[in-house]
Amino acid sequence: MHKLFSIFGNPVSHSRSPLMHNSVFKNLHYNACYTRTLLKDGNKLKETFFSLGLSGANVTVPHKESAYAACDEVRGFAKKIGVVNTLINENGKLIGYNTDADGFMYAISEFKNIKEILVFGAGGTAKALVQKFLDEGLHVTVLNRSKARLSYFEKLNCKCYTWENFQPDTYDLLVNTTSAGLKDDNLPAPKEIIKTALQNTRYVADAIYGRTTPFLQLAMEKGLTCKDGADMLLGQGVLANELFCNFELDKEAITKEMQKSFFY
Ligand code: NDP
Repeated sequence: MHKLFSIFGNPVSHSRSPLMHNSVFKNLHYNACYTRTLLKDGNKLKETFFSLGLSGANVTVPHKESAYAACDEVRGFAKKIGVVNTLINENGKLIGYNTDADGFMYAISEFKNIKEILVFGAGGTAKALVQKFLDEGLHVTVLNRSKARLSYFEKLNCKCYTWENFQPDTYDLLVNTTSAGLKDDNLPAPKEIIKTALQNTRYVADAIYGRTTPFLQLAMEKGLTCKDGADMLLGQGVLANELFCNFELDKEAITKEMQKSFFY
């Protein structure tokens, strides 16, 4: 039976997920197709998912928390963080997973001796990455534009700051999880803060892919070892594809086909 998958987001036109998953389906002869769906109202996610007849989906900005709320059952790491990026239709029930955090750990596997991390942003992606970092015994500081979302991270005993009260420290890794630079030329924090942080770190990663954000540009100019979001995208995509195909395909083959799609 032909299966249909999609990605939900707003904006969603930038997403490379359709190319990645279709590359796997086509070249590994899996009878499925992956499309994209612009979803404006996160509350309509569940009804849209079922009205499209989807077997599964990915969820991107800004609907990952709505996706958690929409699920009939949430499994694994997603349950811990309340953020879902992968949905599976299991006999008419909506099952939620999160593959972002493991995707990011895959992306930074070549970064060595990471202990102190400064995370820019406090949204869904930050929740996933921060929880994973804490699970790995790392120390995390969260810096966000506004206060409201920080209370979640305060409860996790992270050091939390807004731009107004930020106290810089020494870090091993800076991570941008904000959407600043996704569709604009904004930095994830005021330039003075970014400059100070860049002077006090060894590695820099950005969750945004497909373009060099002004943040990553500054980091590269300083000669720091940098990663954009492409490998995170690949990592989360491979894990999502395994769920979509019910682990019927070989993981290495999935990775290879997805990697190829980056050059389409
Ligand atoms: P959310 O909407 O949940 O959170 C957005 C965060 O960004 C909030 O903390 C918000 O701050 C902050 N923010 C937004 N605009 C600005 C700005 N101009 N300046 C500073 N801070 C800003 O988004 P997600 O966590 O779902 O996604 C964030 C980014 O990560 C997106 O760009 C997405 O594309 C990328 N991503 C990439 C992945 C990959 O595989 N490479 C996977 C997942 C996400 P406030 O609280 O003040 O509003």
